[in-house]
Amino acid sequence: MNISLKKVMNCNMLKYNTFGMNVTARCFMEYGSEAGLLKAIEQIKDESNVLHIGGGSNLLFKGDFDGVVLHSAIKGIKAEEENDDDVLVRVGSGEVWDDFVEYCVERGWGGVENLSLIPGEVGASAVQNIGAYGVEAKDVIALVEGIELKSGQKRVFGTLECDYSYRQSIFKNSLKGKYAITFVTYRLKKHPVLKTEYGNIKAVLGARENLTVRDVRQAIIDIRNAKLPDPKVLGNAGSFFMNPVVDKEKFFEIQKDYPSMPYYEVENGVKIPAGWMIEQCGWKGKSLGRAAVHDKQALVLVNLGGATSDEIVALSDAVCKSVADKFGVSIHPEVNFI
Ligand SMILES: Cc1cc2nc3c(=O)[nH]c(=O)nc-3n(C[C@H](O)[C@H](O)[C@H](O)COP(=O)(O)OP(=O)(O)OC[C@H]3O[C@@H](n4cnc5c(N)ncnc54)[C@H](O)[C@@H]3O)c2cc1C
Repeated sequence: MNISLKKVMNCNMLKYNTFGMNVTARCFMEYGSEAGLLKAIEQIKDESNVLHIGGGSNLLFKGDFDGVVLHSAIKGIKAEEENDDDVLVRVGSGEVWDDFVEYCVERGWGGVENLSLIPGEVGASAVQNIGAYGVEAKDVIALVEGIELKSGQKRVFGTLECDYSYRQSIFKNSLKGKYAITFVTYRLKKHPVLKTEYGNIKAVLGARENLTVRDVRQAIIDIRNAKLPDPKVLGNAGSFFMNPVVDKEKFFEIQKDYPSMPYYEVENGVKIPAGWMIEQCGWKGKSLGRAAVHDKQALVLVNLGGATSDEIVALSDAVCKSVADKFGVSIHPEVNFI
């Protein structure tokens, strides 16, 4: 049995967070199997401050972390079941998300190609319900396996039990911090219907015919590379804010003043792109200290180099205040503040 468990005391977290916060965790533990995780759980049973991370691409450490950081290094991508239409693929939570997307695309399996190049790991895809270009992780997740950190009990969650909604799941709400996700099983399609309506995918693909999942993946990689900062060059955590959903009355009130405002109708109202609102407030490309609003995508806050978490939070607060003052709408960070 593989009971691999790595433990580092006073661990520098710089390489474990894409915002580039130079902070230390009192203890860092990385497990390579369920057995390794159970061993970690035994060792941390009296610990009150435990944080499970993936690739650290949606986190903002607000200072040194006085507790235990857990990380999954469970690997493996395996087709467990298939029929003429579907393939069920079970993936270790420590796999890099985009490696999994590439694996599926290479085999012509559809469902995750629109989620190409999203940073982070497979475990977090199920926590965050990652989404891009009209697709969300919940659309392809069949099962999520987790181990409760308190009891060491294993539990398998069906998709409905995960209570998914926009960038939300049970693991971010009632079960926040309670489970380590060990494996996620996805349902991929062998004869996929490609989703090219969203954003400018169609424009990038042009008039080409007989498109494949690989073409869609490549178009999305090109779009993302053109507008999103590479965390290795400019520290960031992707979209810093969630897009607000307002009721129809509020939407019409804003639309009266901004007739060309982009929007999407959703179940509970109208979603307005927070990036557009931030841009209207004049923040795009502006900085406060060493933190800035990205000059190509106003939804992204970046670390210009050596920014402290206080500088990022000050910028975030200032942006939220401007949006509230101008539109009367509250926007909230998508990034997890630690
Ligand atoms: C440049 C850039 C672009 C991005 N674009 C997108 C995008 O298009 N769409 C999108 O949805 N997101 C996007 N993101 C955000 C980020 O990539 C996702 O939220 C991603 O899922 C985070 O993965 P991670 O492994 O880095 O998780 P982390 O940031 O380390 O953790 C995220 C959350 O998941 C929990 N978690 C992680 N792994 C586990 C586990 N195994 N068990 C239990 N809990 C766990 C953590 O506790 C935390 O609450 C982007 C980020 C960047 C930097």
